[in-house]
Amino acid sequence: MRLLDGVAIAAQIRAELRPGVEAFTKRSGRPPGLGIVLVGENPESEIYVRGKLRSAGEAGLRVDLERLPATASLDELLALVERLNRSDAHDGILVQSPLPAAMGPGAERRVFDAVRPEKDVDGFHPLNVGRLVQNRASLVACTPSGVIEMLERSNIAIAGARAVVIGRSDIVGKPMALLLLHRHATVTVCHSRTPDLPAVAAEADILVTAIGRAAFVTKAFVKPGATVIDVGITRVTDASFVQRVFGSDPKRLQDFGKRGALTVGDVHPEVSGVADALSPVPGGVGPLTIAMLLKNTLTAALERADRPGGSDRPGGSDRPGGSR
Ligand code: NAP
Repeated sequence: MRLLDGVAIAAQIRAELRPGVEAFTKRSGRPPGLGIVLVGENPESEIYVRGKLRSAGEAGLRVDLERLPATASLDELLALVERLNRSDAHDGILVQSPLPAAMGPGAERRVFDAVRPEKDVDGFHPLNVGRLVQNRASLVACTPSGVIEMLERSNIAIAGARAVVIGRSDIVGKPMALLLLHRHATVTVCHSRTPDLPAVAAEADILVTAIGRAAFVTKAFVKPGATVIDVGITRVTDASFVQRVFGSDPKRLQDFGKRGALTVGDVHPEVSGVADALSPVPGGVGPLTIAMLLKNTLTAALERADRPGGSDRPGGSDRPGGSR
């Protein structure tokens, strides 16, 4: 069984981005810029944002963290997004999810819709999603595009493969299915109402699981020789669960003993005895998600600069948002 090393692949992608970042910076007199918006103090979001800030800084991007308190109103958040929409220094905008529940249902959608499509480095804006459906998107959701990089750079054939995606969210499952389809896989999308899920999953040559349930995908879900990509991230604190599922892994037990928690994926460890290739959690898809965010920011910067009237001119535009 081959472990698909997301850390190494992400480092390779970041190294490939460096000349493009340097050339842009030289040409434009400023680095590509990313604005990250964080509302409240969700500890997991803090960790994700810290990783994004560090990687973006190391890649030579300008990166600004814009924080709002958990008590901020939706209008305040929309005003902040609008300021970043108008900023010439920012080519990409990322609003860290989840937003505080107090912002109300539908807040996240309103905020993602408010980001200018050309700065939408998360690929969540309906215009970019529509372009993805038509296979002509340049800004695509980072996690699924990271999975494609992982497959392609690991020489796993997608064209002609049977692919099964478990999960149908807007940010992972659906764009994942589309990206695989555009690369000529025969794709099945499963979800919580799929009958006989293990049997459907076991048809896959490439199984991508994005559910968020620890060790849910057992060997019954996996065809011998399949490639299994584990997108799920769950923090487990139940000692008896850890003992039952990871009891034969001394490293995991030691980590759990130290921290009282483990970060695990959707895939049960027994799958390593059946799959041909497997992405681990941590160290699999997560680092690729960040690498693709940097790549999208450079893409957005280059496309903005190339647009007639593009805003990386000195004293550039201050156009109102949502004008495209
Ligand atoms: P989500 O919006 O909660 O979607 C989960 C999906 O899984 C839903 O489509 C749901 O089906 C399906 N599901 C849940 N329980 C199921 C079951 N028992 N059987 C079959 N399907 C089931 O989550 P998400 O945002 O897509 O994220 C999924 C996981 O990926 C999470 O663990 C998240 O933390 C992780 N993630 C990781 C990265 C990364 O960088 N590695 C990035 C993003 C997300 P229904 O639609 O029927 O409810």
